[in-house]
Amino acid sequence: MLSKCILSVKTPAGPPVEIIRHTFSPSQSAKQTQRVSLVAGLHGDELEGLYICHRLMETLKKLEEQNAVKGEVHVYPAVNPQALETGTRLWPFFSTDINRTFGEKNTRSLVTEASRTLLEDLKSNSDMVVDFHASNLHLMELPQIRIIKNFEKKLVPLAKLCNVDLIWVHPHAEIFESTLGYNLNQAKIPTLVIESGICLRIHKNYCEQIVLGILNLLHQTGAIDCGEFLAETAPAKVVQPDQVTMVQAQNAGLFVKQAEVGQILKEGEKIGDLIGPDQMPEEICSPCSGLLFTLREHPLTGKGAPLARIATIIEP
Ligand SMILES: [Zn+2]
Repeated sequence: MLSKCILSVKTPAGPPVEIIRHTFSPSQSAKQTQRVSLVAGLHGDELEGLYICHRLMETLKKLEEQNAVKGEVHVYPAVNPQALETGTRLWPFFSTDINRTFGEKNTRSLVTEASRTLLEDLKSNSDMVVDFHASNLHLMELPQIRIIKNFEKKLVPLAKLCNVDLIWVHPHAEIFESTLGYNLNQAKIPTLVIESGICLRIHKNYCEQIVLGILNLLHQTGAIDCGEFLAETAPAKVVQPDQVTMVQAQNAGLFVKQAEVGQILKEGEKIGDLIGPDQMPEEICSPCSGLLFTLREHPLTGKGAPLARIATIIEP
């Protein structure tokens, strides 16, 4: 394993801000094939990606010793170090979401300097990228890959190798244009954005599920060769925008869930109660049958806030 600091910026107090890339590669004589980069921690409160990188690096170290790394695997486990230090989504002091600054040309700041350096480093070292995210503090997410409609053709076959429960193809929106994933896909480097669990927590089972999926992706695309390695990956369900139903709170209140993500719901089945200021619980029921893949975890609920997302099951 070779570690390289791709960005180092002095700070007035304390250690410098550094972004580190760890590289696993074959011995020099070997012919390199696929170059895959794994990125985590764009949002400093999303810790599952960091843990997934740790678990993957343990395995990659062993594979490297066994000469089973055939391509190049780059791991960037903490690309927003200051946000990670404070456990916040945004880059502190600037209060900026780094994942809304990629591709920006005008403003210059430490944050845009970091996003520009990271984007260029990924572009020159990758044939494929995986960007790990967890959900916010409000919603629990089943392991899933979200794909913008325009990139569907290239990304869905790769996403199917990653052992996620769901592949959600959604329409393009302007807001995505400053994300890392969008900019890499635009630069013709296939990039998968994985979302799972909830921020500030580690959902061990979900992490292990994704670790297995990423090893399978690396194996199937030729970046690593584990011989007879065959991950038992579950077939992901691909859903289009019209196959996702969102349930929103009609009133403010306390949401008390009565279901779990991953559950297959029947139409009318109870998801939870919303207790309003009048103390009367309102039963929240599923408007359709399908896979419950997002569920509100944070009880404090404003009017219109999302409570659940359900993927309609299509009968074979
Ligand atoms: Zn994120």
